[in-house]
Amino acid sequence: MIPPHVLEMLDILACPVCLKPLVPRGEDGLKCNECRRVYPVRNGIPILQEPQATIEQL
Ligand SMILES: [Zn+2]
Repeated sequence: MIPPHVLEMLDILACPVCLKPLVPRGEDGLKCNECRRVYPVRNGIPILQEPQATIEQL
């Protein structure tokens, strides 16, 4: 279940890929309706990382 404090954060959270609002999805997810990515909520913390992205080292 998504904790209440996470639901209250939805006003300020956004998808890191397209910067669109997130909506609750299922028991422990936040979904972006733009790109359809679903980000997990683990231990009450939304994990808003784009799993496919990598960081290029200098
Ligand atoms: Zn998105």
